[in-house]
Amino acid sequence: MAVWDDVVGQEKVTAQLTAAARDADAYVTAEAEGRGSAVLSGSAMTHAWLFTGPPGSGRSTAARAFAAALQCVSPDRALGGAPGCGFCDGCHTAMVGTHADVEVIRTDLLTIGVKETREQVRRAQMSPAGGRWQVIVLEDADRLTEGAGNVLLKAVEEPAPRTVWLLCAPSTEDVLPTIRSRCRQLALRTPPVEAVADLLMRRDGIEPAMAAYAARATQGHIGRARRLATDERARTRRAAVLKLPQRVADVGGALRAAQELIDAAAEDAKEVAEEHDARETEELRAALGASEGKGSRLPRGTAGAMKELQDRQKRRATRTQRDSLDLALSDLTGFYRDVLARQLGSGAALGNEEAVDAVARLAEDSVPEQTLRRIEAVLECREALDRNVAPLLAVEAMAMTLRAG
Ligand SMILES: [Zn+2]
Repeated sequence: MAVWDDVVGQEKVTAQLTAAARDADAYVTAEAEGRGSAVLSGSAMTHAWLFTGPPGSGRSTAARAFAAALQCVSPDRALGGAPGCGFCDGCHTAMVGTHADVEVIRTDLLTIGVKETREQVRRAQMSPAGGRWQVIVLEDADRLTEGAGNVLLKAVEEPAPRTVWLLCAPSTEDVLPTIRSRCRQLALRTPPVEAVADLLMRRDGIEPAMAAYAARATQGHIGRARRLATDERARTRRAAVLKLPQRVADVGGALRAAQELIDAAAEDAKEVAEEHDARETEELRAALGASEGKGSRLPRGTAGAMKELQDRQKRRATRTQRDSLDLALSDLTGFYRDVLARQLGSGAALGNEEAVDAVARLAEDSVPEQTLRRIEAVLECREALDRNVAPLLAVEAMAMTLRAG
């Protein structure tokens, strides 16, 4: 299987990246054979790329596939085959995450700071250890703080000859203008529902009916589709969210529904914390040289490191909570979109098969203007959360508007 197999519904991007990997390969070969000083300018390859696309479109999957293609050492290349065979040592280790010259930076925090970025910039100045390129994939370039962005800028402006930066972000507007203007931009689209269903069957071995349901319900968001298809709890949660529109008929119901959404998000954050926090804390204590056992004292001068870890854990909890709410809100938007489609008599396929009856009932009982106001209310709630409005307040305000329509 070629490295591009999991990049679904992005033919244009894949073609462009294949061409770039080909030129990149020719460049390294020319350099290795000492054929003058090879140049990249004017070729399909360049040192900095920005992958944009809506959440779930597969930005980081595409970036990783490209990273693998850049490391491809398949002998077929000499015979005119495109790099990115998927089988050779270069492709394989890059795909599974063990290639020494592919660094993937992902964060579960809200921001990436100056300190972490400096580390990557240092790395970027080195030559590849054994591979063909030094590749740094920055999955959440939209989370760089301004200071971190400025640190990165210098590295992107004057790249080492065989270093490639692959930045990923939802849209170009999410990245500092100075940085994005130095990157070649690649826009991914929301993959078609059929392509997502196909991927779930092929890659994850999911049954056709379940794959089709999950792909349609999540409207082309690959990660969410996979989670919905494989996680019973995610399906239960979604079913509860889809019942919300019927529960907001009175004030009490609206407020209760709001509280439940918040509780469910908090529950998710707690689960993630239980999974990681204790282990991370114990590991850090050991690294700092504390003796065994929770109660033992930390060595002098190490409290700062412990405090830093606790802050990170707190920020991660906030982020998990936010992601979980965001998922619920996107399910709600989908529900009201289906109501609207029905009211306007469009033949668009329903994303919410399991709520067909509820959609039909609400479509009967309300008018399109109300549905539009409700969609607006959900979007406003999302924006309020982005502005750090207290989640319960934002969700309550939304529930009240959903009630009144
Ligand atoms: Zn290969």
